[in-house]
Amino acid sequence: MSEVLGVTAQAGEVEWQRRYGSALMNTFGPPQRVLVRGEGCYVWDSEGTRYLDLLAGIAVNALGHAHPTLTGAIGAQLNTLGHISNFFASPTQIALAERLLQLVVPGGAPEGSRVFFTNSGTEAMEAAVKLARKHGGTERPRLLALEGGFHGRSLGALSLTHKAAYKEPFGAMPVDVVHLPFGDVAALEEAFAGDVGIAALVVEPVQGEAGVRPLPPGYLVRARELTREHGALLVLDEVQSGMGRTGAWMAHHHPEIGGGAVPDVVALAKGLGGGFPVGALVALGEGPASVLTPGTHGTTFGGNPVAAAAGLATIHVIERDGLLDAVTERGEQLRTGVEALDHPLVAGARGVGLLLAIELTAPVAPDVARAALDAGYVVNAVAPTAIRLAPPYVLSQAQAADFLADLPAVLDSVRSS
Ligand SMILES: *Cc1c(COP(=O)(O)O)cnc(C)c1O
Repeated sequence: MSEVLGVTAQAGEVEWQRRYGSALMNTFGPPQRVLVRGEGCYVWDSEGTRYLDLLAGIAVNALGHAHPTLTGAIGAQLNTLGHISNFFASPTQIALAERLLQLVVPGGAPEGSRVFFTNSGTEAMEAAVKLARKHGGTERPRLLALEGGFHGRSLGALSLTHKAAYKEPFGAMPVDVVHLPFGDVAALEEAFAGDVGIAALVVEPVQGEAGVRPLPPGYLVRARELTREHGALLVLDEVQSGMGRTGAWMAHHHPEIGGGAVPDVVALAKGLGGGFPVGALVALGEGPASVLTPGTHGTTFGGNPVAAAAGLATIHVIERDGLLDAVTERGEQLRTGVEALDHPLVAGARGVGLLLAIELTAPVAPDVARAALDAGYVVNAVAPTAIRLAPPYVLSQAQAADFLADLPAVLDSVRSS
């Protein structure tokens, strides 16, 4: 295989880093390591060093690395029918759409609900923007989003993303978006006061890139009432928080987050394919589901048979192996373990299931992440004072315990340096 790929040369980290720097566009900064292999919750770098992967490709590898059921399903589908274009349909695509319609709303999506497949979270959100704009028309052109929100980097999705540094180099954004203070019901009510032409409110039930922040109880219920009253759509970006990541299929299914509110549109990606790129936009009910008609949107790769097989296999394993409960248990173990640390750099833990942040008392998250990597753990400095943990759902109790046991020494090394 390595001969086919032309990577037979036995390069080490230094050589790979040099080649990376002269071949790859510098959009991400230098990579932390060059990884060559993964199995379960572990990955190995080019020099053979093993790491426990507590980030899972940013909340993507739900089943860990090289899960045999997932790779088997992908391989079998690829050997049967790989790509066909959306002039045609495939059984896996149809079956995955049906499965998502069962999962996105407890007890099943309402009559008339439909799915649009994409290859990424950004594309799912881009489709959501187009759906909302077409639904709102010229009467209701404005979208509402939240401060701290992250929804992707294409220009439509970027309009929804809050961070100014991501947008400033690119001039005027194509979509009229107003960003409201996070979790602030009064600000939400004010935004809807007087009919100002709002097409949709777009929120993450648990903000991921902002540092793992769940919406406060009651917010989504009020958001549902206000959007319904004003003919606006409630769009939930569950790209990071969905597909079991929080111990429920969708983060908004947790009563303290969703309060029973049923959205109009849900965007999914990250964990959906267990590591294979696949995204989806699920529109709930006849109205939202019939906005995008033939000719108004499309994709070449979206919903291809292999991506759909990856989604089906991932969902199958989550159900077969009881992984939603495992996520809840490991999440509790990590959260209580972090809270019990009594370390001067640790302020606490927040998040739901296996979408967690270790809150730090000082803005040293990048140093902590570096020290953790040197100690054999992949984590992420999601904010200056927050370390994100988003491990595979198959993380074992012993693996979580290993991390908790080594964490004080990691933190000590940062404090003394
Ligand atoms: C990652 C993410 C996106 C973008 O998804 P990509 O697959 O990177 O395009 C959008 N919304 C949220 C909430 C995300 O976490």
